[in-house]
Amino acid sequence: MKFGLLVCDILKPIMRRIYLAPLFLSLAVAALLSQQSRVKELAPGVWFWQGDRTIQEPANCGWVIFKDYVLVIDANYPWGAKKIIPEIRKTTNKPIRFVFNTHYHGDHAYGGSQFTAEGASIVCSEDCAIESRGKGQANWDRNKAEGEFSLKPYFLAHPTVTFPQKMVFDDGEHRVEMIKVGPGHSKGDAVAWLPKERILFTGDLCVNWKFGNNMADPDADHLNWVKALETMAGWAPRLVAVGHGTLGEVPTLRGQAAYIQDMWKQVSDGRKRGRSADELAKSIDLSRHQPFGGDAERNAASIKAMYLKAGARK
Ligand SMILES: [Zn+2]
Repeated sequence: MKFGLLVCDILKPIMRRIYLAPLFLSLAVAALLSQQSRVKELAPGVWFWQGDRTIQEPANCGWVIFKDYVLVIDANYPWGAKKIIPEIRKTTNKPIRFVFNTHYHGDHAYGGSQFTAEGASIVCSEDCAIESRGKGQANWDRNKAEGEFSLKPYFLAHPTVTFPQKMVFDDGEHRVEMIKVGPGHSKGDAVAWLPKERILFTGDLCVNWKFGNNMADPDADHLNWVKALETMAGWAPRLVAVGHGTLGEVPTLRGQAAYIQDMWKQVSDGRKRGRSADELAKSIDLSRHQPFGGDAERNAASIKAMYLKAGARK
């Protein structure tokens, strides 16, 4: 009896572990798959990393593996960069030499110091570099978040390689053209265009999710933004790696342009009729533009930001 009890006591935890093993295994596999599904090879040597807003890594990123080095597109937040670097390492052991930031906003650029620690230099348009040192640093200094998403353990690494309108990386195998198309979403927006693969990385000039665009940058130029989207649609990209949300195509660029243009028209017409920003934010319906206009609250914030611009233009 005693012996039987003893055997039972010994076996119970073992049996419990055996019962729980499949659960632990499936959780581990799910975690692995969720990381893997964030990484996609769009063409040989051209990689896309899917952002995830639920864990405060909303911005998409990418990297291109040249013969001698890796060029990263958008640095993400520091905690995002810490996940991206090991993913890059799974695809190549070449040095990460450059990080191209499409614009200076924190979710795309604040992780730069993680890459400079790897020996990389940060590249962006001249206007983007000015914005990084001005608005970017000021926003960083104002950020008082604590805990997991605190910026305190990090510093903001500013761009050190800049270009006025265009810079080209081309080693005969890959060609990446960095082209300034802003002001649009910010003053210094530039995109990465891979003409051989016909892949375009847009930053926040184009998104493909229901949470809208942040239209509130003080240097945003909504009309030029629409023009930039139309120009890029004219390049006929096969794939559009947007700033947020899932991969898009040419209709994504055109849909994004239609959403901004419609908003601009309704805001500027309403303003001319003497309507207030609050009235327009309540009355303008952009829900027909999917997925761009899917979030009424964010549309309202964008309408109010655009209202100030419409006033400045008259
Ligand atoms: Zn942005």
